[in-house]
Amino acid sequence: MAHPQQLIGLGIDTCSACPHPWPVGVCPLCAPGPMAPPPDNAGHPAADTDVETALLRGLRMTPPLLILRGGECLLRENALELLTACRQSGVARVEVWTAGPLLGRPRFAQAIHKAGATDVGVLLFGDTAEGHDYVAGAAGHFARVLTGVQRARAAGLGVRLLVPVLRPTFRGLVGVVRKAIPAGVKGLYLWAPPGPDRSAHPLLAPLPLVASYVQAAVQLARTAGMDVRTEGLPACHLGPHAGLAVASMPAISAGPVQSGELPHAFGPPCAACTWQGRCAGLPQPRIDEHGWVGTAARSDPAQLPNLPARVAG
Ligand code: SF4
Repeated sequence: MAHPQQLIGLGIDTCSACPHPWPVGVCPLCAPGPMAPPPDNAGHPAADTDVETALLRGLRMTPPLLILRGGECLLRENALELLTACRQSGVARVEVWTAGPLLGRPRFAQAIHKAGATDVGVLLFGDTAEGHDYVAGAAGHFARVLTGVQRARAAGLGVRLLVPVLRPTFRGLVGVVRKAIPAGVKGLYLWAPPGPDRSAHPLLAPLPLVASYVQAAVQLARTAGMDVRTEGLPACHLGPHAGLAVASMPAISAGPVQSGELPHAFGPPCAACTWQGRCAGLPQPRIDEHGWVGTAARSDPAQLPNLPARVAG
């Protein structure tokens, strides 16, 4: 059966120069989107020159949801103008991804809301200050993120938490959701990074190790009515939430031209799997690190994706 062509969300990868010291393969802010293969070189993407063109192309597609991501696009000099262009184009929802502390600045959240942002995606590495600050490498960062979330909510912005699934913090995934529910967070994006760009960085956890924690967090979030997305987690690790594995967000990149090839692979267990062709498979860096341990063919019928896998045009 053909995939439905209705576009219900579109990412714009602004590829702005990123001020954060985190490994580019771990933080989702400027990591390559599902349409983009990982860069050959380590480090953050170079500053782009053509965000406006990418944005205009995205706006012409009139998606109901537009996600601006890539470094800290809110630090761009023309960030408010870009958001205003989104609002004036009639896109119903405009979500901007950020590390969070910017939102804690006085009147900042109100300013981006007034300009055109309806939602923000806020990066959270864990459910405790100890875990989050360890990964962020900055004491007090967790508290600044929480302040940012509170001020975003107070300004009327919808908040989605962007949570990388990492070895030091994956046991706290349910704790993240437990804290997010009373805080009024409306969405959760769980991201299993393809791999750190620093081999000595002990952040990458084997998927079989994290799978039950991911499933429990997704279950709780969905029960609470949160909008949940995942990336980097194959269907066979998502249990009853396997359908999330096929819902990759299409994206337009303002950076170097991408090949359009998914940076994922399928191994021996996938040969007999009924989900191959729907499931996104595993990122090659993960296979290099952990092999195919824990990956098992499914025999149940694959669910239809919620989003189209590719953007035409
Ligand atoms: S066995 Fe392969 S195709 Fe099947 S769900 Fe797992 S990763 Fe996806």
